[in-house]
Amino acid sequence: MLIFFVTSIQSAHALPRTVTVILKDKNDHCDKIGLISPFRVKDKTFSKGKYILQITDNAEVELFQILERKTLVKDRSIEILPVTNGIRLNERKYAGTLKVRANKYLEISNLVPAKDYVESVVGSELPPHFEDEAYKSLAILTLTRLELIGASSTRPATSIVDTTQYENYTGLQAVTPRIKSCVGSVMAKRLFYNGHQAPKVYYHSACAGGTSSAESVFGEGGRGLKYLKGVKCNFCQESPFWKEKEHNVPRQKFMTLFKGKFPIIEKQDPEGRPTLLAINNKKISGYKVWLSLGRTFGWGAVPGNKYNFADSSDPKFVVLRSRGAGHGVGLCQWGANEQAKQGKTYREILKFYFPDCQIR
Ligand SMILES: [Zn+2]
Repeated sequence: MLIFFVTSIQSAHALPRTVTVILKDKNDHCDKIGLISPFRVKDKTFSKGKYILQITDNAEVELFQILERKTLVKDRSIEILPVTNGIRLNERKYAGTLKVRANKYLEISNLVPAKDYVESVVGSELPPHFEDEAYKSLAILTLTRLELIGASSTRPATSIVDTTQYENYTGLQAVTPRIKSCVGSVMAKRLFYNGHQAPKVYYHSACAGGTSSAESVFGEGGRGLKYLKGVKCNFCQESPFWKEKEHNVPRQKFMTLFKGKFPIIEKQDPEGRPTLLAINNKKISGYKVWLSLGRTFGWGAVPGNKYNFADSSDPKFVVLRSRGAGHGVGLCQWGANEQAKQGKTYREILKFYFPDCQIR
């Protein structure tokens, strides 16, 4: 009798129906936020003007109407449903529903259908003048990532925080009819490696000459992700981050960040991204130092992780230099757009940045 073992299992993942995006958690210290009608709460439609969601002294969420100075609803948690297209919270408009919970501060999450989520990520990540094939490439990466997170979650929806650490998500205003149609055309496509859906996908704004392997940037976190390797890319020359940027930052703050010792870059990868630094005989990864620099001095001071620093001519400052934008792993968005301009399809673009992967 012959027994066949299936060694290469096709993806059994499924796209989650909805995604839970955490808009505010208790660390955001949000105690009050504006809400604009129309919307529905507890079967009631609110259509007159401006409202406030605020936390009470008894740790309840209060829906308060500004004009009539009246409390309309008070509860531990409130679910806000749309009446027409989307819910307006402060400056932004969201598809799906909002859940507001009182937990010392307001915790606000957005339960959004997966397709609306992907459309918003594509529109929030990429500028409006970008090409269709660049939109489609990013949509496939977002779908691949979303499906994997969804599959590993026991909850009915997936939790993602709306910061650059994950994916940029700014709600409905980022979405245009062109983005909707691009996302719609690739809803069933995913990135595969060795017969499985790629377990991790990364992208960044501009690589400024070449991407880096996941292992060289993320160290331990990138080990085993062999398909995330470095490729040469001169397609992002139109990006505002192609040329080196210089910023003077206060020396005292810089020295405080590194506990009084000036760090030394000991190793760089072939693209010039620092991989190892020495600070007072302690070794630290180049990626971690870049994150600390960005969080301390703002990402405008060090947008890319092809960075270095030196004494400034003014002793009060240290000069930070950086090229590119983002961590430099995976797809380069500006490069993808230039390739699309030159007539490349999303398949060709993804094949360029993920040469060992397949799209199906
Ligand atoms: Zn590039």
